[in-house]
Amino acid sequence: MSVKDNPTFLSADGLVPRLPGVVFQFFRSFNGHMNFPYLEGGGSALDYIDREQLALDAGGLIEHITGNEYPKVMSAIERSARWMLPLTTRFKFPMTGTRSHWIAVSANPEPTVEGVLWTGLMMDITEQVVEEQRLRKLCDTDALTGLPNRRKLMLHLSHLASLSTRHGTPLSIMMVDIDHFKLLNDRWGHLQGDEVLKQLATEMKKLLRCEDMVARLGGEEFMVVLPLTPLQQCHKLADRLRLSVSQQDFGVGVGEVTLSIGVAEYRCGEPLMHFIERTDQALYSAKDVGRDCVCLLP
Ligand code: GH3
Ligand code: MG
Ligand code: MG
Repeated sequence: MSVKDNPTFLSADGLVPRLPGVVFQFFRSFNGHMNFPYLEGGGSALDYIDREQLALDAGGLIEHITGNEYPKVMSAIERSARWMLPLTTRFKFPMTGTRSHWIAVSANPEPTVEGVLWTGLMMDITEQVVEEQRLRKLCDTDALTGLPNRRKLMLHLSHLASLSTRHGTPLSIMMVDIDHFKLLNDRWGHLQGDEVLKQLATEMKKLLRCEDMVARLGGEEFMVVLPLTPLQQCHKLADRLRLSVSQQDFGVGVGEVTLSIGVAEYRCGEPLMHFIERTDQALYSAKDVGRDCVCLLP
């Protein structure tokens, strides 16, 4: 029996609509006109898409379905066309009445007389993206407090420092350390110590604006990053935080949890490690002068 006589054999025409993805040809002319000469597969996912319209003009639909990611998708197309390299990108596909889906695009370009023609596949990768997001969050989050961890903080801070250098905008940080936390653990037990760390994390988040970030650096040390904030304002906020904590109970008695805080403002172009080091020194000064206080260095 030849392959074609086999009842399970499907010609390309029969097979493509059954694929768990979309097979397409996408064309972009030199003047920027875009269309899908071929678009098949994807089960019911393509049901509400007007393929005849897309065969004529796809510009509007691409802009609509890629939303905020339109510039990213267009620059991937541009790069692929310029260097004749495979097009690989992904975008969030809005679905009515259900959560958005993530679509991965992979296609090979070829030059034609009038533009570039890509032949490729689109696959729904929503489950994969959800898993990636879960793992990224896990990687960036401190398990005890749910705050961003040191890794996440360093990425964020380095981004803000380069913005500050580029635009000359103020950026301040606080280094926060619980006083005599070892004693607190010894007296109340490690589990109660953990409770204090969790409650303190909540308390700090309450005091901050949504654009600020509080992260747990490790142990009983936290850092607060305050974009667009000059030193004096950071100092005031740090003192408000210190006072508020010293007046609370945290399950171990009022005044039993106190904070020492070092504050510093970023200097244009300063290496990040130097900035953190200066803030750390300010924190040491706060410990030196008796704890439960905020220090800044000249
Ligand atoms: P100082 O005022 O000089 O900062 O004194 P300190 O006791 O707070 O500082 P030290 O560095 O001597 O001790 C920090 C303590 O923090 C020791 C460690 O057991 C405790 N610690 C670190 N991580 C955790 C944690 O996740 N949970 C609890 N309960 N304790 C922790
Ligand atoms: Mg401490
Ligand atoms: Mg410490």
